[in-house]
Amino acid sequence: MRLPRKHLLTKMGETMSKTLQDKITVVTGASRGIGKAIALELAARGASVVVNYQKSATAAEELAQEITALGVQALAVQADVSQEEDANRLIKSTIETYGRVDIVVNNAGTTRDNVIMLMSADDFDSVIDTNLRSTWLVSKAAVRSMMRKRYGRIVNITSISGIMGNGGQTNYSASKAGIIGLTKSLAREVASRGITVNAVAPGFVLTDLTSGLPEDITSKLNENIPLGRWGNVDDVAKATAFLSSDEASYITGHVLVVDGGLAM
Ligand code: NAP
Repeated sequence: MRLPRKHLLTKMGETMSKTLQDKITVVTGASRGIGKAIALELAARGASVVVNYQKSATAAEELAQEITALGVQALAVQADVSQEEDANRLIKSTIETYGRVDIVVNNAGTTRDNVIMLMSADDFDSVIDTNLRSTWLVSKAAVRSMMRKRYGRIVNITSISGIMGNGGQTNYSASKAGIIGLTKSLAREVASRGITVNAVAPGFVLTDLTSGLPEDITSKLNENIPLGRWGNVDDVAKATAFLSSDEASYITGHVLVVDGGLAM
């Protein structure tokens, strides 16, 4: 029987919107910016979300309430994911609360930009630890449970800086290029256990991380973006939700660039 077009659209809409029904997800650095948008997008698609944060307790608690109002479960968990004990505790509390972890989005990140001559070794280490070490630690903590369940989705937020390089960001670009290598190696290690590992590489997105860029640099950047605008947090969230879903079950070790064409 042929369904009327309106019915088909509704059906499609329902499937699209609940592609993550009942999935248990952890989003690191979800209190602000891109991580917050990812948490909301996953929740809108039916997932329960563990909202990780480092310092912004009030924002994280408010986000957890906002997510609960969408009809799914949410839990705010403080953890400095660059620290092994904290990363392990984040995953442990997720499993203790919800019984498993299906999806991990490694989003927590930071910058300490400077030209190499003025960048301290501490600036280098701290950006590598927050961006790259955290991704390794949280993935390691989650993979054991995912392997047992023979199911998992890991999405790592990298950056086009990790692909193209960027002056003033030797630490950040190294951390983001490292995330791409980590993604591909882990994807190969765990593929046989039903776990996919992918990365999303945003271009320029207006958040607290980029709000300090001087006006002359931002307007010059706009000229180089083929689609003529900066990305917004939802552009990144939707790409991440796709890679987190079973619609992407045959995609692993992939880097999905979300940059308005900047890096091509
Ligand atoms: P943001 O607005 O500065 O937010 C950073 C988030 O990470 C916050 O929730 C912060 O938590 C959390 N965080 C930082 N260090 C942490 C730690 N050690 N442990 C746990 N959480 C930590 O940044 P954003 O722009 O949304 O960036 C999110 C991700 O996208 C980053 O990986 C970034 O590199 C990447 N990215 C961003 C852009 C862009 O243009 N914005 C482009 C490419 C890639 P608190 O609030 O508690 O401090």
